[in-house]
Amino acid sequence: EQLSNKIAAGEVVERPASIVKELVENAIDANSTQIVIEVEEGGLSKIRILDNGDGILPDDVETAFYRHATSKIKTDKDLFHITTLGFRGEALPSIASVSYLELNTSTGDGAGTSIQLEGGKIIAKQSANSRKGTEITITNLFYNTPARLKYLKTVHTELGNISDIVNRIALANPEIAFELYHNGKQMLQTNGNGSQLQVLHSIYGAAVAKQMLPIELETIDFQVTGFIVKPEVTRASRQYMSTFVNGRYIRNYSLARAIQEGYHTLLPIGRYPIVVLNIKMDPLLIDVNVHPSKLEVRLSKEDELTTLVKEGIQNVFKKTQL
Ligand code: ADP
Ligand code: MG
Repeated sequence: EQLSNKIAAGEVVERPASIVKELVENAIDANSTQIVIEVEEGGLSKIRILDNGDGILPDDVETAFYRHATSKIKTDKDLFHITTLGFRGEALPSIASVSYLELNTSTGDGAGTSIQLEGGKIIAKQSANSRKGTEITITNLFYNTPARLKYLKTVHTELGNISDIVNRIALANPEIAFELYHNGKQMLQTNGNGSQLQVLHSIYGAAVAKQMLPIELETIDFQVTGFIVKPEVTRASRQYMSTFVNGRYIRNYSLARAIQEGYHTLLPIGRYPIVVLNIKMDPLLIDVNVHPSKLEVRLSKEDELTTLVKEGIQNVFKKTQL
């Protein structure tokens, strides 16, 4: 069991940023409206996630650390109709197996629970008074997997990855207030007022937010909303393009291409837009069960979607040129 958790950890928790992603997604699945993320030394010395969500009942706390113990899927049918971000029940046991982990949680009703694990083994568990929600602290990351530890990059790179993921999650969830701190310094704060433009403002500042044009597209199968930046304010990297399908950040090559083609001749060579696309579609048309990281997805009717996006973006710029 411990060994298979460590193997799974190799797939699910590659680096500090993937841990932040999994833990924040758990907080979102638990209906949190406020999520605070604190990392030290690029997450290498400490990752702490605090949420005000549903919490975990005392009797369920240990179970959450068993492999494939997810509270989110009950039947085979659910697997093809995934509405939560997590569903594999792999993240907590995987993360715990390669770190020291402390979790404090309370449903806000009766006593809460505090549990400590080392390398996935429970070393202590107590009743604890705590506010409603969950707090998870990870230290000594990869202490028992030296090869993984060696593979990690500098604090600067790891922090960049964390910041990138938190930005995307904040964009996908404008109704949640996020705070990110690195070594005590605030890196991001969103207000949770539901406006994606406001989140763009928090991430990129007022000057960029002012240059964002709204996108609104619809077919029978797809509903696409979002913002795209004017060609003048493009960036030299692809990383500012974010696509979300039903609230989940995804990577899809054809979609990225469609966005760039939508600019047609307006996009300078080697430049990429800051763009956020929120795609709503029937969960039955998406297969997220392709890779444990859940990042790559297969989409049915992909051609219909890419045409919609390409032409939609062309129209946005046609309109602004009139
Ligand atoms: P999954 O998210 O795939 O269900 P995880 O290993 O990430 O699996 O989490 C295991 C279980 O622990 C979840 O199904 C959920 O019941 C519980 N859990 C984890 N994090 C939280 C949280 N922040 N708040 C409430 N429950 C949580
Ligand atoms: Mg999860």
